[in-house]
Amino acid sequence: MSDLKRPVLTPPNGEKKVLLHSCCAPCSGEVMEAMTASGIDYTIFFYNPNIHPEKEYLLRKDENIRFAEKEGVPFVDADYDKDNWFARAKGMEWAPERGIRCTMCFDMRFERTALYAHEHGFPVMTSSLGISRWKDMNQINGCGARAVAPYAGLDYWDFNWRKGGGANRMIEISKREEFYQQEYCGCVYSLRDTNRHRREVGRPQIEIGKLYYRPDDAS
Ligand code: SF4
Repeated sequence: MSDLKRPVLTPPNGEKKVLLHSCCAPCSGEVMEAMTASGIDYTIFFYNPNIHPEKEYLLRKDENIRFAEKEGVPFVDADYDKDNWFARAKGMEWAPERGIRCTMCFDMRFERTALYAHEHGFPVMTSSLGISRWKDMNQINGCGARAVAPYAGLDYWDFNWRKGGGANRMIEISKREEFYQQEYCGCVYSLRDTNRHRREVGRPQIEIGKLYYRPDDAS
């Protein structure tokens, strides 16, 4: 591993109990190990109705369950209410990544996470979404703050999981664990747009379920 000397992380208000919204195993692996190293008592909350098709959704979810079980971390499997996601995405089908559709997508996932945190006594929630370099941290943090606003006593932890070598360790853990490697953000529109870009640059179309991280992968 590139840096095993981890600083001790302290969630907001010195709390030690956190609900971690996880988007997938590769993004949450480093977040999980960082929280474990700091003695934080956390639970994974998997709510990602954006992921399409269902085969891809199940691949991502099952990889996350596999790693959570290995690490002995509680895993909450929330509903795949994709019809609600499509209803909220109506009219945003052609918005670019990092645009209004993504704000809606983060809002929806975080609203559900915040409700669960409120109902189950978690004082802090956070997300693995921001560790990806493809994502806009400010956009994610804005959605997190909005999600917790209705609940007194619930904070969104906007820690930057990329920093201090986190982004590199995310890849290292993914290779070590040989996680499934998704090749697009998640929704049907990101699949469409990624494939369109691949066509433009002469790359093959995405084959769902094909690519896994391997320990000897370059980079
Ligand atoms: S591109 Fe990603 S974040 Fe944006 S709407 Fe699609 S799945 Fe959600």
